[in-house]
Parts: sequence; C-alpha cells; structure tokens
Amino acid sequence: MGARNAVQLDDMRLFREQAYINGKWYAADDKGVIEVTNPADESALGTIPHMGAPETARAIDTAHTALATWRRQLAHERADHLMAWHAEMLAHKEDLARLMTLEQGKPIGESRGEIDYAASFIRWYAEEARRLYGCTIPTHLHGRTLFSQHDPVGVVACITPWNFPAAMITRKAAAAIAAGCPVIVRPASETPYSALALAELADRAGLPEGVFSVVTGDARPICGEFFRDSRVRAMSFTGSTEVGRLLIEQGAQTVKKMSMELGGHAPFLAFDDMDPKEAAEMAVAAKFQTTGQDCLAANRIYVQRGIYETFLKHFQAATDRLKVGTGFEEGVELGPLMNQGAVDKCQDHVDDAVAQGARVLTGGDRHERGGLFYQPTVLADVTPQMKISCEETFGPVASVAAFDEEDEALRLANDTEYGLVAYLFTHDNSRILRLSEYLEYGMVAVNCVKITGAPIPFGGFKQSGLGREGGHEGITEFTEVKYVCMAF
Ligand code: NAP
Repeated sequence: MGARNAVQLDDMRLFREQAYINGKWYAADDKGVIEVTNPADESALGTIPHMGAPETARAIDTAHTALATWRRQLAHERADHLMAWHAEMLAHKEDLARLMTLEQGKPIGESRGEIDYAASFIRWYAEEARRLYGCTIPTHLHGRTLFSQHDPVGVVACITPWNFPAAMITRKAAAAIAAGCPVIVRPASETPYSALALAELADRAGLPEGVFSVVTGDARPICGEFFRDSRVRAMSFTGSTEVGRLLIEQGAQTVKKMSMELGGHAPFLAFDDMDPKEAAEMAVAAKFQTTGQDCLAANRIYVQRGIYETFLKHFQAATDRLKVGTGFEEGVELGPLMNQGAVDKCQDHVDDAVAQGARVLTGGDRHERGGLFYQPTVLADVTPQMKISCEETFGPVASVAAFDEEDEALRLANDTEYGLVAYLFTHDNSRILRLSEYLEYGMVAVNCVKITGAPIPFGGFKQSGLGREGGHEGITEFTEVKYVCMAF
C-alpha cells in the first residue's frame, strides 16, 4: 500500500501535505520534505515541506499585513469567524479524530475527545472576544478622565507539541485571534496533519488571509526567524521545560511577550482515609491517559502507609486490565509511544529504579507487540534519588512510594522544579484546605482527575511555565494594557 493510501478520510481535502501561508497552500521546494509516520506501525503517512527562515519571513510579512485590518474588526465580527471555524471542526470531527490517531497513535476515543476539547477553545474565545473589557480608573488628577483598554499584542508565533496535536493549537490560536492578533503556528514535525487540517477548516470558515498560517519544517531556523523579527510580538510555546528555557533566552533579543506551557511532574497524594480501590482507579486514570505522554500525568504517586499495600494490589490489577493496541482497535486504552527515544526513556527509568531497589509489580519492559509499544508498568517503593522521581518519564510507567505523615507528603510533592498540577485524595476537609494552599502548583485536583476545559486558567508554577491558557486569563496573554489619560 502506498503512503498516499495510508490516510483514508471521508473528506480527503483535510489531509494536506503543504504549508498554509496567507491563505495559500505551499508545496515543498528544493529544501525537500519531512516524512511523517504512523507510530502504531512506523509506516509512512506522507510528507510535509521542509521550510525554513525565508518561508517564515513570508508568513510574518503576511501576518503583519493582516494585523492592520484584523485588529480593527469589531469584536463580534472576529467572534463570528471563530464560530464558523468551530462549526467546521465539529462537522468534520470524525475525520479530524482519525487523522490524529494516524499521526499520534492515541486511541480513537481519546482523539474524538481531543477534537471536542480543541473546538471548545474556539467557541470559548469567540465568546470572550466580546467581553475583553477595559476599565475606568478613579482619577488622581483634576480635569482628567482615565481609562485602560486591551490592545492586541501583534503577530503571535505558536510552537506546539505532538501529544495534543489539535488542542494545543486552538488553546493558543483562538485566544490570540479573538484578541485581534494574526497567528503563525509551527506544529511538531511528528504530528503536523492535525494542524494543517485546522488550517484547511480555517480557510473554509473564511478567516481572512494571513490571520492563521501554518509553517512546517525544522524548528530552529523557523524559531530563529520568529525571534529575529521584532514584528512578532508574542511567542506562545507548549513543550518541555528544557526547550522552553532556550526559547525564553532567545525571546530576549526582541523582548517578546512569552507564554510558556512546560513540563509537569505531577504528585498524586492518597491518604489513609481513602478507599484504596477507589484511589487506585483514580491513579490509573491520572497516570495512563494519552499513554502517559501527558503533562498532567500523575508521575509520582505517594500513598499513606496504612493503605499502601492494598492500594498497590488494586493499582496493579487495574493496570493489568488496560488494553494496549493500535488506536483503531476496539477497546484499546493505550497506544504506542511517539518515537524510539520515548521507549528508551521508559526502559532507562525502569532499569535505574530497579537497580536502586524498586519493585516491578507489573510490566517493566517493551510490549510484546514490538515497535513503539511499552507495557503499562507499576514500580513500587520508589525513592527520591531515582531518575523517575526527578524527571518526567512521559510514558506508561507509574512510580509509587509510601509516606507516613502529611508534612512528609507535602515535602515530597513540592520537592521538584515543576509545578503544573497536583492530585490530592482525602476526605478530611481541613487537610484539603491546608494542602490546596501549600501545594506549589498552578492547579490542584481534589478527589478527581479530569480537570481541564476551556473555562479554566491552565498553567504552572515554577519551571512548569509562564502565563495561563484557557479561561479569561488566556486571552490577556495576547493583549497589552493601554492606559489613556484625557484632559477635559
Ligand atoms: P519538546 O521537545 O519541547 O517540543 C515541543 C515543540 O518545540 C515541538 O514543536 C518541537 O519541534 C519544538 N522544538 C524542539 N526543540 C526546539 C528548539 N531548539 N527551538 C525551537 N523549537 C523546538 O516537547 P515534546 O516532546 O514535543 O512535548 C512533550 C513536553 O511538552 C513534555 O515536557 C510535556 O510536559 C510538555 N507539555 C506541556 C503542556 C502544558 O500545557 N504545560 C501540554 C503538553 C505538553 P520538533 O517537533 O521538530 O521536535
């Protein structure tokens, strides 16, 4: 079967192998192409153009031209464009989900969920566009009226990861576009087709030329151009803390407004007053979503000594029930990992933990399906010195350790450079209030695991990021506050 036949959609025009700049599609030129593969079997899906600085400069030129008119559209006109884009996404949900499973590997049910989630940001920011209020300021000067307003920051560059190929784009782009800013997206090279399908739908929804562009190719020259050009006023990045640090440094060149959604290394605290079976089921949901390749994954599970062994028994049993396979197989909950490096990292974390005394309760090795599949794994008696306690594994390897006292649990939870989300499981209300305050995390999930959505301010403390996406806060990442003082 040829690569072209590997992608079958009802609407094949959603499968684009060109970049989208200024409302036009650009095929590869003499710089060649990047191949895109299906992680389920590593077969070829297609190619994307290998673009660089000149094409990025063209995208910036056109975005900058679009800014002049887009920022002056009335809020409800921008909202109407966004709602048309939202409707296109929902009308093509099944094709978009299919494309995502092909390029990312996640089970089709998760892909459908991500399309709904991604579309919800477009709707949310269509609504927020109309409510981007400024304020009047009680004057401190005689004969003056003072007020402030939100101005669009200008052209926005977005760099996005492969684990949520649609939602990490719309969470940024819808907010920026609603605020009056043209957007240029450079998607992860492993999952560009979801981004390009979004561009096709933006085109059908009638977004004006230059308001939403997608440039594909090597990240470094593309980002280099974004950073060099002072007309790009904001950079919004989702990815690892390591790359985020590099980008923050480069952003200093032209003093860009930087939004950073970076790594997470979430603690999961379960206290003795919990039903250990219920806590174990919650831990499975918090750990293995997106095959563990999730910034919200519960990477460090700490269980109070009184329920520790019973918790482990239930956690192992629930982990053993997880079905691994390709994203289109019935009932599959875990797909392949994204690349060989991810598989190797899982194995390295397991080997390191075992060498230092951790117990493997289940899994611990590459999956019998071969390729990029890894066994859902549970490690018990993990200690803070092990790699798995210090770094994101970004795979289906769960690490569990016991604690005795609340203070110890809090210290373990906060003992990291990350601060994205913490999970807390207890029925003691005063403990909930105390720990919600003392956990150094941008988000705290109490007795639940699914906490994301368009209305919430998503983001991390410490080295998990800068700024917030979603909620009202998300749109202000793409505005500047202007103060006006008028004499009368
Ligand atoms: P990554 O390696 O940091 O890559 C993210 C994006 O940055 C990709 O598009 C990548 O391009 C690009 N990139 C890589 N090196 C670059 C460089 N030197 N200059 C400019 N761009 C560069 O992260 P990932 O492995 O894709 O994603 C996993 C990470 O994202 C995890 O740490 C996870 O926690 C984090 N994440 C955070 C959130 C959040 O909301 N906080 C959400 C999802 C994921 P290529 O595709 O070409 O490598």
